[in-house]
Amino acid sequence: MVAYTQEDLGVWASVMARALASYGIHRGDVFQNAHGYGLFTGGLGFHYGLEAIGATVIPISGGNTDRQVMIMKDFKVTAICATPSYFLHLLERASEMGVDVRELPLRAGGFGAEPWSESMRQRIQAMAGIKAYDCYGLTEITGPGVGAECWFQGGLHVHEDHFYPEVIDPETGERVADGVEGELVITTLSKQAMPMIRYRTRDITAMITEPCPCGRTLRRIRRIGRRSDDMLILRGVNVYPSQVEAALLAVEGTLPHYQIVLTREKGLDQMEVQVEVTPEVFGDRIVALVELNEKLAYAMEHTLGIRVQVSLVGPHTIQRSEGKAKRVIDKRKD
Ligand SMILES: [Zn+2]
Repeated sequence: MVAYTQEDLGVWASVMARALASYGIHRGDVFQNAHGYGLFTGGLGFHYGLEAIGATVIPISGGNTDRQVMIMKDFKVTAICATPSYFLHLLERASEMGVDVRELPLRAGGFGAEPWSESMRQRIQAMAGIKAYDCYGLTEITGPGVGAECWFQGGLHVHEDHFYPEVIDPETGERVADGVEGELVITTLSKQAMPMIRYRTRDITAMITEPCPCGRTLRRIRRIGRRSDDMLILRGVNVYPSQVEAALLAVEGTLPHYQIVLTREKGLDQMEVQVEVTPEVFGDRIVALVELNEKLAYAMEHTLGIRVQVSLVGPHTIQRSEGKAKRVIDKRKD
């Protein structure tokens, strides 16, 4: 559980308002808040920030995708927030319903609450015709609004007047030099109800100290592509789900919906990557599917450094999440 004083809530609203402003959101925008409301802080955090800047909030929360598409169209929504995996699902559903999101007034989105790659951003921007911004936060610190990208999308400005960031070597606990990758550690500077001192986030990033072309002087952190605890060790090789995502986005004809299934055979760990293909590819000849499978297996091996099994699955076979995507299914037994 988390606790806030009235002042803490005021700070939260103001850092979120700042994040939204850096996405170019202002009074007059119609904002679809597709983050869950409730114990997940995404929904309320965006809500407070939107109220503070005077934008119109549609508190639709997560789920009920058909209604999301309808609302986006009928209310002429101009900006949205969601987890990137859920937004991608929303775009697919819109297309099935005959709605081309690129033709709607939607122009910006704030995405976060799960690691996502640069190629995923490119995919979202192309499919939706919007600018997709990264938003960083965590419930233990305040919720969303700890850091946010600006127009230049070159890392997230940390709201350093309230959250003091450090990057450490997760093994030794020592601070690493600027620009060097490590684990993000945050100290809250203004929080009253639940202050945190050097809280280890498990998120892997690096400090960017070069000035940003936008003129903000708040230091930036590199976008979080992975967490130290989502690392899988497979036959002695470190594997991150984000590497799998990057490999499959590099191959055409696949959707960034994937699932990693871990099993153990005769004491040896096996990894299977199930990858959804587009309806066009799925309806294609067997030869084409075999070729695609080989291409993917090659891309995976090239990126991960080990050979894994790749299986192509039909559209919509991998379960969609309304919040954070579940990427790894571990069926290994000790
Ligand atoms: Zn900037």
